[in-house]
Amino acid sequence: MTIANRVAVITGASSGIGEALARVLVAQGHKAALLGRRLDRLTLLADELGADTIAVQADVTDRESMVAAAQRVQHELGGADVLINNAGVMLTAPFASDKRSEHRQMIETNLLGAMTATEVFLDQLRVKGGDLVNISSVAGRVAPAGFAAYAATKWGINGWSEALRVELQPDIRVMVIEPGAVATELSDHISHRESKKAAQDYRDNVAVPPEDIAEVIAFALGRPKRLTLNEILLRPTAQLM
Ligand code: NDP
Repeated sequence: MTIANRVAVITGASSGIGEALARVLVAQGHKAALLGRRLDRLTLLADELGADTIAVQADVTDRESMVAAAQRVQHELGGADVLINNAGVMLTAPFASDKRSEHRQMIETNLLGAMTATEVFLDQLRVKGGDLVNISSVAGRVAPAGFAAYAATKWGINGWSEALRVELQPDIRVMVIEPGAVATELSDHISHRESKKAAQDYRDNVAVPPEDIAEVIAFALGRPKRLTLNEILLRPTAQLM
């Protein structure tokens, strides 16, 4: 697969796995569109990565902002070859707690946001024979107590991706990435106290750096077009769940 000048669109590129992925893909020769809500962080990263990288303020729960993002990618970079649906929130809490709005925010962002991004970039991916990478989770394979709504989003991503794989082949490759614990700010946003402490203890003691995940995704994207790594589960070696 010739990487040079392929255009990668990364949602949630302002931190964590998305930021690490932007660095790896640009180092490989991709052009990149960095999407997210925090424009200041995206702009700093785009400035660091160089002229073929653009920072685009876009909220995956706001369809209009995603349509505008797709228009910018078309006009400024010539369209997307790769879409990485990475934007996500993990606001874990017992289902019976009062965190109903956070449960809905996870569905809106992780599942419906990925669907919206894919809808608006699909024509560009089709034209360029592109790749769709959906960031799921080990929580798309298992469903521990306290993870009900989050697991619903990631199991949803897996089912949706499998149907898309069949529907979009052979024009578009569909890949699902299922990381275990990764050391990012993801758990900093949890508001349920006990759930936050458990997630942060796990992050501080077990998690791998986001670069480990980014390198595997870059490897998968670099395979010849005739081959797709459809589903990749990557746990820290010491992770049990
Ligand atoms: P981070 O919190 O570092 O990154 C999440 C990214 O999503 C941020 O860049 C954030 O950017 C973006 N984001 C959140 N909401 C929206 C929104 N409404 N619109 C656009 N962007 C949004 O965490 P990670 O890097 O860990 O998470 C990335 C993905 O990896 C997520 O899908 C997560 O579920 C998944 N994952 C993470 C694991 C982990 O242990 N860390 C394990 C398994 C999967 P901004 O705030 O600027 O919008």
